[in-house]
Amino acid sequence: MNKKILIVEDNKTLAKLIAKKLQSALGLTVDVAYSMAEAKLFIARYTYFIALLDINLPDAPNGEIVDFVTEKNIRTIILSGNIDKEFRKKILKKNIIDYVNKSGVDDINYIIHAIQRLQNNAKHKVLVVDDSRVFRKQMQTMLENLFFQVISVAHGEEAIGMLKSQPDISLVLTDYNMPVMDGLELVIEIRKTYTKNELCILVLSSNEDEEITALFLKHGANDYVKKPFSKEEFSCRINNSIEALENIQMITNYANRDYLTGLYNRRYFFDTINEYIDEVKNSGEKFAIAMIDIDHFKNINDTYGHDTGDKIIIALADILRSSTNPHDIVARFGGEEFCVVLKNINQYSAEEIFNRLREEVEKFSYHLKDDKYINFTVSIGATLFNEEESLEENINAADMLLYNAKKNGRNQVVFQA
Ligand code: GH3
Ligand code: MG
Ligand code: MG
Repeated sequence: MNKKILIVEDNKTLAKLIAKKLQSALGLTVDVAYSMAEAKLFIARYTYFIALLDINLPDAPNGEIVDFVTEKNIRTIILSGNIDKEFRKKILKKNIIDYVNKSGVDDINYIIHAIQRLQNNAKHKVLVVDDSRVFRKQMQTMLENLFFQVISVAHGEEAIGMLKSQPDISLVLTDYNMPVMDGLELVIEIRKTYTKNELCILVLSSNEDEEITALFLKHGANDYVKKPFSKEEFSCRINNSIEALENIQMITNYANRDYLTGLYNRRYFFDTINEYIDEVKNSGEKFAIAMIDIDHFKNINDTYGHDTGDKIIIALADILRSSTNPHDIVARFGGEEFCVVLKNINQYSAEEIFNRLREEVEKFSYHLKDDKYINFTVSIGATLFNEEESLEENINAADMLLYNAKKNGRNQVVFQA
């Protein structure tokens, strides 16, 4: 996504203030034009992902800038002083994303939040389920305007198929009356697999029956929006749902991850590996478990201080993450002790990877300051998972092998299949 923003505003002080705030809060490049003529020059030269437009400019007093910018396919947020309701309605009919006041600090914070929202939207896949092709197209345009990735299908059964092939969809927007499988059946079906914390469902329907609304909500729809709705209401409701989902995901993430390194914590490690063990139980898939511990870490703390010790732990976490596959499990068990599970692997490859890992740590130097570098090593005890024994027994076995590696002089891998 292009990361440049254009502000068109003839009040120079205000324009500069907004530009400065956006730049520091979002880390984006911001250009400022003080008139429509200047804006045209900028747009001819650069591409922008968002434009913030004053609709009352010296050379464009009646919002002429809006059509010019939206026709260039630049997403537009209108900055306005207090203007009358009718004018506001007229502007909102245009292809704009939002309409904000510009009278105070809160308004600027709102703008920052709105742009962050748009950036985050780009990470979300939305599935539109409606039997009307016209409505699907309309929704697609509206959602793409908000930067969402959009997929659309004509009825519930197609939606279920799509969710199977694209399980990372975050939001489903569904109609009620559709052939083959209607919206309510779809909601019930989706909720067998996905909780409200994993996937949002918004129902968009012209059905006026209040019982139906309640029925949808009882069966797990996050929201019910009556057609026809305004673009403004629509985007507010979408934002509410997506933000609730993101907040839950953030909290879950905090609960599952170690605060220092961002790796999985010990508790989540056991959840996820137990799931994996169930998954591969009858498949004959082999996997390896290693316990990894920094050698003489206490010396590092004693010599350079606890903060530097922390940086070394973070550096090791990065090495572990980058030398394993994304599907492997890397967890910090506590202190300077880590556990790594290599999935779907044989003894020889596992041994090779753990040896390479040990070497990478040995080669790595942590830059302390000036020409001062810190080197450190790790000891690794590793084993191929033995399904005859419990998970705890397997981990204990790896722990014993780690103990042997320490006893034999450290900076080595002891692997036993
Ligand atoms: P060995 O080679 O036998 O593993 O020796 P070691 O010094 O690495 O092991 P030991 O268990 O004696 O010391 C580990 C030290 O790690 C003690 C503890 O204060 C320190 N430590 C534990 N957690 C953290 C942490 O989060 N940050 C920092 N900086 N130090 C930690
Ligand atoms: Mg319909
Ligand atoms: Mg240690």
